[in-house]
Amino acid sequence: MRAYLAILLAVLLGFGAVQAQTIAIRAGHLVDPATGTVADDQIILIDGKTISAVGPNIDISSADEVIDLSDSYVFPGLMDAHVHMTFGLRPYDNTGSDWEMYFLKETSAYRALRGMRQSIEALESGFTTIKDIGNDAEWAMVDVRKAIEAGYFVGPTILNTGKIIAAFGGQSRGFSHEQGPFWQYEYLDADTPDEIRKAVRKNIYYGANTIKLVADNSNVFYTEAENRAAVEEAHNAGLTIAIHVYGGQAATNVINAGPESIEHGFALSDDQLTLMKEKGIVLVGTDFPEEHFRMMGSSDERAREINAQVVDRLQRAHRIGVTMAFGTDVILDMPDKTRGEMMLEYLDVWRAAGIPHADILKALTTNPAELMAIDNERGAIAVGQFADIIATSENPLDDIHALNGVHFVLKEGAVVKHDLVGG
Ligand SMILES: [Zn+2]
Repeated sequence: MRAYLAILLAVLLGFGAVQAQTIAIRAGHLVDPATGTVADDQIILIDGKTISAVGPNIDISSADEVIDLSDSYVFPGLMDAHVHMTFGLRPYDNTGSDWEMYFLKETSAYRALRGMRQSIEALESGFTTIKDIGNDAEWAMVDVRKAIEAGYFVGPTILNTGKIIAAFGGQSRGFSHEQGPFWQYEYLDADTPDEIRKAVRKNIYYGANTIKLVADNSNVFYTEAENRAAVEEAHNAGLTIAIHVYGGQAATNVINAGPESIEHGFALSDDQLTLMKEKGIVLVGTDFPEEHFRMMGSSDERAREINAQVVDRLQRAHRIGVTMAFGTDVILDMPDKTRGEMMLEYLDVWRAAGIPHADILKALTTNPAELMAIDNERGAIAVGQFADIIATSENPLDDIHALNGVHFVLKEGAVVKHDLVGG
């Protein structure tokens, strides 16, 4: 009896997914984000963790389970290329030293537990892949990723950068030299090309599978040679690299060094955006809703002003034709909202900027899959791809806000969410 209960419990907790089984999904409307098209009445056959067949006339008689989504729009899982899952600032609390106090008051273990909870919340909202872009204390997201990969939890696929590499002081501000360099709990100080190379290698050693640099935290910013050292070192190890920069000469130094993506870039000029397009550098704009700036401590006026700047940059980047990947940068922990719900609030900004729905869906699927160099295995519903599949009642190509109602989530063949919809 005890053994039976243990097995039952293991199955309920998701360990049962180890056994390969075949699932057939009846997809009423199969959406292809890459082309912005819909194919009706399709069958998706899943064998274990991957898709083995897709098409209108597939024999499903041997499938172990048939999932009926014939009333739904079915498409690949969403991706967010810029998250901070272990961070959880209380809203309206990021004033003065409070941001840095989190470095001091929370252990890496606590940060990992929060990171796991928020990663699972993101998955439940439809985000099957996330890129955690740093601020995870002592490599806490490495353990979150390992625990998911070991099957202890069903969570999203994770790329993670480890500690953020930046000039002396990281992203802390104005602390007395008598307090010691406590920011090193979150950042690796690196102030020459050699130190930057060493910092990249250190992150890789401790488990990072992608790299992040902050190029312009203060009026000190990285030279082209310093950015280039980071890009070369990441690429030597076969990893992609993201560089945080706002604009000006600091951004030109980053663009010339050629990372895979630029994070934020709120003040990029048209010339810089054009150069990014030419060099194939992706913009991960972290296009914050106005309310989020306010929650992080900005005044009403300042929140409106930065949001307007974000919308303007989003419109210019789209007009110029820069490839964009959805990235949110949520660092807040709202008591009445999940992290996934807060990530989806960024869709409002993309709509306010007038970006076409099909292009937004691409920025949430195809483009980040290419950016993260995982497009051969994720980001599409095709034979050989991992079965990361979600569904909505409405067509996201008609209105991207359909994504606020993701009612089905399949992660590598395991059902994470299957709400009954309609009547
Ligand atoms: Zn960020």
